[in-house]
Amino acid sequence: MFSSLSDRLSATFKGLRGKGRLSEADVDATVREIRRALLDADVALPVVRQFAAVVRERALSSEVSGALNPAQQVVKIVHEELVGVLGGETRRLRFAKTPPTVIMLAGLQGAGKTTLAGKLGRWLRDQGHTPLLVAADLQRPNAVTQLQVVGERAGVAVFAPEPGNGVGDPVDVARRGVASARERHHDVVVVDTAGRLGVDAEMMQQAADIRSATSPDEVLFVVDAMIGQDAVTTAQAFLEGVELTGVVLSKLDGDARGGAALSVASVTGRPVMFASTGEGLADFEVFHPDRMASRILD
Ligand code: GDP
Repeated sequence: MFSSLSDRLSATFKGLRGKGRLSEADVDATVREIRRALLDADVALPVVRQFAAVVRERALSSEVSGALNPAQQVVKIVHEELVGVLGGETRRLRFAKTPPTVIMLAGLQGAGKTTLAGKLGRWLRDQGHTPLLVAADLQRPNAVTQLQVVGERAGVAVFAPEPGNGVGDPVDVARRGVASARERHHDVVVVDTAGRLGVDAEMMQQAADIRSATSPDEVLFVVDAMIGQDAVTTAQAFLEGVELTGVVLSKLDGDARGGAALSVASVTGRPVMFASTGEGLADFEVFHPDRMASRILD
């Protein structure tokens, strides 16, 4: 991911090397190239516009620093602005003062929520926590079994609705899951919820009801980085519907152009907290905006 954006930006900066001073025309030409590179990487237009305007203004008004030549100065500005777009400082999980901490996962079907629940569970377990995964996705036929399998592989307990009781109520399952965690002294609960192929009112209402029933400390929006521009509209709908607290980018191992990663945090005002980078349990990272920005500009 980002290889094409990365190549385009470094070619742009190469053109500035050796210049003693940047004229306004140089800055404009550079900003134009940055703009095109971001748009081609599928970054949402309002995000690109804002980004380009800030970089232009900062590049034109930046003091000539003794240590950096003009090209380096522009790279520094772009780096700092990329970090900002990606959410700024690394945002750690917020744990409840009184356990259990509840983490609710929301997002479209196929976004990678169930897979993420397993990864997050294992990561939490490795950090000394005693997580419980709650199977409140009763929409997708295999979601409960999938979570049980993933939980077993991760060595993490799973709370699932009893089989044979009909379809069941996901809100009730989520509520009972949290109660069970309290009784059995699990200190973190990860609630997997149902998505649909697209945003729909019934799904959003169910997610909102699960939110009300479990009072989560974190509501993480899991988004498939491969869906490009659509990630932004989906993120906005979930932000309004369930008051997200953070974002998880999944499928960062794919050949997506990276636009979703750059747009979602900026558009929602919620930080990217984790990245999913494959189908295996270990393909999971805490997301560091500064490292991602460096990767893009390397
Ligand atoms: P859910 O419907 O949101 O619960 O999505 P799933 O967790 O079932 O994931 C949908 C598909 O995407 C599955 O085939 C997963 O194996 C796959 N998947 C999930 N996360 C990743 C990832 O980070 N990288 C890749 N390549 N595949 C992923």
